Amino acid sequence: MRNLSRVTTLFIAISLTACSEPPVDRGLEKYIAGIKAIDNHAHPMLVVAKGAPADTDYDALPLDAIPPGAAPLRLRPGHPDWVAATNATKDVAGQKTELALDRAGIDIMLANRVAMGPSLAPPRFLWVSFADPLMLPLDGKLESARTPDTRSLYALETKLLRRYMRDLGVTKLPASLDEYVRTVLTPTLERQKKAGAVAVKFEAAYLRALDFDDPDPALARLVYSRFAGGGVPGRTEYKTLQDYLFRVIAREAGRLGMSVHIHSTSGAGSFYSARGADPYMLESAMNDSTLRGTSFVIIHGGWPLSAQTLAMMGRGKVYADISMTDVIAGPSALSDVLRTWLEAWPERVLFGTDAFDGGPGQTWEAGAYLASNLARRSLGLALTRMMREGSITRMRAEELARMVMRENALALYGLGARKAP
Ligand SMILES: [Zn+2]
Repeated sequence: MRNLSRVTTLFIAISLTACSEPPVDRGLEKYIAGIKAIDNHAHPMLVVAKGAPADTDYDALPLDAIPPGAAPLRLRPGHPDWVAATNATKDVAGQKTELALDRAGIDIMLANRVAMGPSLAPPRFLWVSFADPLMLPLDGKLESARTPDTRSLYALETKLLRRYMRDLGVTKLPASLDEYVRTVLTPTLERQKKAGAVAVKFEAAYLRALDFDDPDPALARLVYSRFAGGGVPGRTEYKTLQDYLFRVIAREAGRLGMSVHIHSTSGAGSFYSARGADPYMLESAMNDSTLRGTSFVIIHGGWPLSAQTLAMMGRGKVYADISMTDVIAGPSALSDVLRTWLEAWPERVLFGTDAFDGGPGQTWEAGAYLASNLARRSLGLALTRMMREGSITRMRAEELARMVMRENALALYGLGARKAP
């Protein structure tokens, strides 16, 4: 009996020690909080004067264009995390955009928008333009009839391609595919690069599966020339042309020194294909030896298929960011993902927020603040565990934190000379 009580006392003592140890090492937590981050993916809003037209260039495929779908728990307005983030950013929302970045501990935000503006300017905001319209020059009527989402989304891509062509002074589609590439596709990418774009983004997963095959160029040319003047290509025919153009865009982006961002996650809306957005769908493109000059970033890290993303990170120059996943998955699940990724490809993991304007209770400023805090918490949990298990030193933990939050992005986008503010 006496022995048993001694054992019990010992057990309680051990339990108390374990409980009193915080899940994130205090020193590491402070260190991570101090890192000025590079946000790999977000949709910040222009500051618009009273009475001026609203900012509609924040996304090529805004969610309000599709029938409303249910949001996962942590994305719902009214969630305590959003209420707290809204309160913490109330005084900076809609004000000078740099203040919102400062509040979230973000040095540079990559703004994925149709166009930028004076209130979203370098060096704090860098542009990521949209590439999907360049892949979709023909009438997508058959493909767009697939779901209530695609019906409106294809039309938006067509409109944006017309805008790109207008910007170049091109009034109608050229007759041949090679001419289209020479007079529309390449000049648009060059124009975006000249305007400061560091990457182009594909939102293709909202429109079609990410299985970009390597078709016979002669077939792609045939499909283009047959339908450039009008008519509706069959779904298989159009896919052949799109797959060809995806590779041309990716190759040209690489030549111009721009990364290619690809949206991959379980998605939004009620008709999105999660299977079509599986990172494994990208395997054919990621294995294309002619695209090895291009760096790719799997935006949202393919969540919840983070293991598939991990497999893709081994090909060429493939990166992954944790934008939106930091909010949806929550720190416990995301820390598991980060740990797995960091054990294998520490130089390929990027921080991101996907901060966007979701209405009064969900401003982009609150989104940036919330995602930044959740990402830091997740990283702290992962690195603390690795440190306590003895797989890394404190110094290496701090280095990994800097890499994820800042230094990997500096290297990827060639911003290496920039000093933290
Ligand atoms: Zn986004």
